[in-house]
Amino acid sequence: EQPIEFASASGRRVTDREGRTYLDFFAGILTNAVGYDVAEISDAVRAQLDTGVLHSSTLYLIESQVELAEKIAGAAFTRWRTASLAQRTNVMFTFRALLHARRSDLAEILTAEHGKVLADAAGEIQRGLENVEFACGIPQLLKGGFSENASTNVDVYSLRQPLGVVGVITPFNFPAMVPLWFVPNAIACGNTVVLKPSEKDPSASNLIAELFAEAGLPEGVLNVVHGDREAVDRILEHPTIKAVSFVGSTPVARYVYETGTRNGKRVQALGGAKNHMVVLPDADLDLAADAAVSAGFGSAGERCMAVSVVVAVDPVGDELVDKIRERIARLRVGDGRRPGCEMGPLVTGAHRDRVTSYLDAGRDAGAKLVVDGRQHPIDGERTGFWLGPTLFDHVGTDMSVYTDEIFGPVLSVVRVPSYDAAVELVNANPWGNGTAIFTNDGGAARRYQNEAEVGMIGVNVPIPVPMSYYSFGGWKDSLFGDARAYGPEGVDFFVRSKVVTSRWLDPSHGGVNLGFPQAT
Ligand code: NAD
Repeated sequence: EQPIEFASASGRRVTDREGRTYLDFFAGILTNAVGYDVAEISDAVRAQLDTGVLHSSTLYLIESQVELAEKIAGAAFTRWRTASLAQRTNVMFTFRALLHARRSDLAEILTAEHGKVLADAAGEIQRGLENVEFACGIPQLLKGGFSENASTNVDVYSLRQPLGVVGVITPFNFPAMVPLWFVPNAIACGNTVVLKPSEKDPSASNLIAELFAEAGLPEGVLNVVHGDREAVDRILEHPTIKAVSFVGSTPVARYVYETGTRNGKRVQALGGAKNHMVVLPDADLDLAADAAVSAGFGSAGERCMAVSVVVAVDPVGDELVDKIRERIARLRVGDGRRPGCEMGPLVTGAHRDRVTSYLDAGRDAGAKLVVDGRQHPIDGERTGFWLGPTLFDHVGTDMSVYTDEIFGPVLSVVRVPSYDAAVELVNANPWGNGTAIFTNDGGAARRYQNEAEVGMIGVNVPIPVPMSYYSFGGWKDSLFGDARAYGPEGVDFFVRSKVVTSRWLDPSHGGVNLGFPQAT
């Protein structure tokens, strides 16, 4: 049996604004949909609720949830696909206004469940809102082409039509932004959606769905189901779910891509990362140190675009490490609801323990533990899942602190002798999500943007997450499939094209011709 942990900023069981627990949502959805009695379901799982752990023995409920959500979404699709562009964009504009108005409620949910500090949660929501704004302009992106008189009296034009029911499966680390990368575009294109958020922090998706309903989105167009891998498998196997957008760790992304495509689905699966920040000798080292600390420890390092490796090109290593160490000492770690806290806890106790295990592993492998996060003062409840910022120097590429995605507040410094050695190191890494170069040399920056085998590059910008009107995605093991998330490629992913060749009969016609059609 796989226990599902309840996430919490401070070790308590999660509840939403109305005090409902995760399982109450779960039971509530079933109640709304098929008339299960909430009390009855709650009784069945009460013992597990009391321990704060849900066991997979209850997962048959999740199975029926996915089945049901798909049925509802399938029925809704026949109506939603014919909703006019004006109707769809009206919903999107209204949703944008509601989300903007309720952003502080949503931020509180993120902080309570994920643990990131409130200011960071607000930033995540802002980046999600950008994608809603992009989807407001969907009519422009759904235009097809038109060629008048391709052959005499024959016109050829293309249509961009929705796929049907699509699945969206999201990770714990951006519980609002990542659903917003996909859901608005999918819906604006005319699809209906089954959204399965991370079981570690599921409430943001519930609020997003409530706001969509308030914005006038017809019932059944967006359906939220809860659960973990069992729910994912049901989505991947479901014969009528046409496409899956996934974001999560690399092994699961690979599995989702392989299983989904084997089942005939269109799949985009974004995976994990190990992002390198190259610092050249001519860089402004104060700027570079600020960037390394912000991008390494923001959101406790639980960002797919976090900088986890600083590549210090000789001779900057000693000075840069000193500057990073000074900045770490000043960071305030604690409960993200308290003013002034800059970094919160890790998402679960199990994740905190896994991340902490790398501190000994790195030291045992011969890296220099410059700052030990276990010593950092904490401004929060004793039972929280805390680990302060950790800095390793002289990290080798064969050490697990380098080879693994740690996904926590652990920053490694690797020293290299030259720019060429830095590029070689970055390109030898199996991941290729994001990278940054810090330099005052425009020529070197241009070379780097050309030579780095990475999908998103920052020049003196540590977390180069593209704006919503570009697309987001890495290379190599950071993305499976050929469509990146959101922006133009995100829209392409949610539509299929059709080309129409049309002739309106005039009184004369040429009779039977068995030759292959050609333009005349
Ligand atoms: P995860 O892979 O554990 O979970 C992601 C989703 O998959 C969740 O909804 C989860 O319920 C489900 N899942 C988990 N295990 C599964 C399994 N064995 N089979 C089927 N489904 C499963 O990832 P996470 O811990 O929630 O998120 C952190 C990871 O996501 C990191 O690796 C991070 O780099 C990555 N991430 C990548 C991007 C990107 O854009 N490339 C963005 C955010 C996060």
